[in-house]
Amino acid sequence: MNKDDLKRSAAEAAVAEHYGLLLGIGSPWKVRKADLNILERKVEIVIEHDAQVPVLCPECGQACARHDHAPERTWRHLDVMQFTTLVRARIPRANCPQHGVGTVRAPWTEPHSRFTLFFEAFAVQVIEACRSLTQAAELLRLDWDSVMLIMARAVKRGLERRSTEEVTHIGLDEKSFRRGQDYVSVMTDLTKRRVLEVVEGRATADAVQLLETLPEEQRKAVVAAAMDMGANFAAATRKACPQAAIVHDRFHVSMHLNEAVDKVRRQQHRRLLETGDKSLSGTTFLWLQGALPEGERALTLDELCERNLKTARAWTHKETFVEFWSQGDATRGGHFFKQWYNAVARSKLEPVKAVARMLKKHLLGLLNYFAHPLTNALTEGFNSKIQAIKADARGFRNFANYRIRILFHCGKLDLTPLTAPQS
Ligand SMILES: [Zn+2]
Repeated sequence: MNKDDLKRSAAEAAVAEHYGLLLGIGSPWKVRKADLNILERKVEIVIEHDAQVPVLCPECGQACARHDHAPERTWRHLDVMQFTTLVRARIPRANCPQHGVGTVRAPWTEPHSRFTLFFEAFAVQVIEACRSLTQAAELLRLDWDSVMLIMARAVKRGLERRSTEEVTHIGLDEKSFRRGQDYVSVMTDLTKRRVLEVVEGRATADAVQLLETLPEEQRKAVVAAAMDMGANFAAATRKACPQAAIVHDRFHVSMHLNEAVDKVRRQQHRRLLETGDKSLSGTTFLWLQGALPEGERALTLDELCERNLKTARAWTHKETFVEFWSQGDATRGGHFFKQWYNAVARSKLEPVKAVARMLKKHLLGLLNYFAHPLTNALTEGFNSKIQAIKADARGFRNFANYRIRILFHCGKLDLTPLTAPQS
C-alpha cells in the first residue's frame, strides 16, 4: 500500500467510526463504509456484522452458528448536513438449535421498521409538536402513510408499556366522527387525565367492548364512572363494571339546562316577534352566559327580568340548579333536588320541565356525585385536540387512524423507541 492509499484508508476509517458513533452501534457491528453521493445529496452507511463473532438467536439470545444473510435492506436515518442518510446492511441469520433460522436483531432499528431508532425517536417528537399530519410529513420529508405507520408503531409501543393498574375513576363519552355521521366512544382515566381507549360506535355493546379493553382484574378496581344520562353507557357499566358507581356529571346536566333555556327563549322570541316586540333579539349569548356583553344594547338583564319573561324564569331555574352541586352530601342534595323539581313542575316552562323529569329519572347518578365528585369536563378538554385531529381532513377517513391519532396525542403514552444499542 502506497502513502496515498494509506492516507485514504485512514480517512475512511475515521468517517466509518464517526458514523458508528452517530448510530450508536459497536462490536460486533461496524460501519464498513460511508458512500457519499453529492449529486443526490445522499449518504449511505453500510454496516456489517463481524464475521468472527457468533450471532445471537433473536428468540432466546443464545450465541449460535451463522446460517446465511437476509437480503440487503435500507433504513432511513437522521439527515446529516441536509444529506438524506440511509443505513444499508445485510443482517445475518442465526441457526438456533432450539428456534431454528431467524434474522438477528439489528440494534439500530425495531423489527419491520424502515427507519433507524434515532429517526423514529425524532419523528415522534416532530409529530407531537406539529399541528397537522401534513405539516409533520413535510418536515420529515415522508409521505402521509409513513407518518401514520410511525404513529401506529409509537402507540403500540406506548400501550405495551402502559400500566392501567391504578385506573379507578373513569369517564365515558361519545365523539362524532366522519363529519358527525358516526360516533366513537372514548374512555378516559380521570385521575391521570389521559385517554385510555377509543372504539367505534356508541351502542351498549360498543361501550362494553370499550370497558373490556381494561383487563378483568383492573375493571374490578374501577370505583366510579362519569357519563351522560343516555342509557347505553350506564347499561354497559352495569355489565362490565357492576361495582362502579355511575355518576352523571355536571357538564352534561348544565348542557341540557342551557339547551332548555335556549328553547324557551326561541319560543318566546317567536311569540314576541308576532306582536312586533324585538326585546329578545340577539340575546342568545346573554342568557347562556348570564352576563351582559359589552356594547350598546337596548335592554339590560335587569330590565329583561323585570318584564318577567318566560326566558328569565327558565334561566333562573338553570342558575338555581348550579347550587345542587354544592350541597355537600346526598341527603342535602336529595332535599335540594326535590324543592327545585317542585318549583320547575309548577312552572309552564315545558323544555325545562322535560329536563327536570330526565334529571329525576337519573337522580341516583346525580346524587352519586357527592360521594364521587367526578366530571367529564376533562374529556371535554380533549375536544379541542380531537377537533384538530378531525380537521386534518385526511385523518378521519378511517377509524383505525383516528384511534391511533387520539391515543398518540391524548393517551399520555411513552412513545419513544429505545435508542440505546441492544446488542
Ligand atoms: Zn434460540
